[in-house]
Amino acid sequence: MKYAVELGKPFGIRVSVHWTFLLIIAWVVFIDLQQGLNLSQIAYSVLFVLSIFVCVVLHELSHSLMARRYGINTRGITLLPIGGVADLERMPDDPRQELAVSLAGPLMNVAIALLLWIFLSVAGAMKLEPGNFQEITHSNFLMILMFANIMLAVFNLVPAFPLDGGRVFRSLLALKMSRDDATYVAMNIGKVFAFFIAIWGIYANPFLIFIAIFIYIGAQREYEMVKYTSVLSGYTVNDVLMHEYTPLHPDDPIKRAVDILLDGPEQRFIVVEDDRVKGILTRNDIIQGLMQYDQETEVRRIMNTQVTTFPADTSLEKAYEQMRNQQITMAPVMKNEQLAGLIDLDNINEFLMVRRAMRR
Ligand SMILES: [Zn+2]
Repeated sequence: MKYAVELGKPFGIRVSVHWTFLLIIAWVVFIDLQQGLNLSQIAYSVLFVLSIFVCVVLHELSHSLMARRYGINTRGITLLPIGGVADLERMPDDPRQELAVSLAGPLMNVAIALLLWIFLSVAGAMKLEPGNFQEITHSNFLMILMFANIMLAVFNLVPAFPLDGGRVFRSLLALKMSRDDATYVAMNIGKVFAFFIAIWGIYANPFLIFIAIFIYIGAQREYEMVKYTSVLSGYTVNDVLMHEYTPLHPDDPIKRAVDILLDGPEQRFIVVEDDRVKGILTRNDIIQGLMQYDQETEVRRIMNTQVTTFPADTSLEKAYEQMRNQQITMAPVMKNEQLAGLIDLDNINEFLMVRRAMRR
């Protein structure tokens, strides 16, 4: 993720924090100052926020390590002001495995709460008088942290897909119905929860509104992904390969790309030199290029040199997901180190529509 700073690599999983996380610390300090707290009181509340985020990292790590048991890697864990995100390569298709991966996070918070409870009980430091919750001090720090972990577990288990509880709900439904239908039901329930969480946020805490938006968009996005990938499973990129295209050479003038663009259906180009893909050029790059340079400028100056390529036997599901996630509209496909053709997002979308229509 952009603008994130890496903190470390526990179990080989990169943990980073997004810069907006600093806003939360600033916000806590601001509220404390407004309430007239002194420096040591402010230090305790900042330390508390940091401790919560350590618990959030442990929660996400727990998801990641459970997923690893099923052979699924995690690209990284990022801390955002609204919580942590473990970027798993995918969720397991088997509902039982998804259930285990989804429960692993909240169970980690339950485990932390349980350990703190045992420790506090043994130390005789469990003081549940109401007056003991108003302000965080060295004497109630661990007790409040224990309750915060219980709240983290409870909140994550709300069945608002794609929160953990929603995933648990989806996997239970998927034991009885298709993954498509289960996700559809979970998405709609997730959206209803998002609506109520947003309203609650208006009265209680603006952060809840962000969480509601995150749930709403996430639910829709995941449903679309499942709807599509169920159609795509069993195909490889070789099945949607396009052979009809006009390769450009890095020394070609922008004018040549413009001519082809205006002359036919091609909107995106690959730039090839000595049988090697040097870059790609989208319609947008061409327009931007023309605003900066003249028509005789070589395309090498305006092409994208960061090219994602796929081997021809890549599953279509995987390629599609990666293209959507990384917002790649076109990618060269390689067969035995040789350029075999192109795949294009619009073209895959057409393939999807046709397949879905044929299914009905
Ligand atoms: Zn979780």
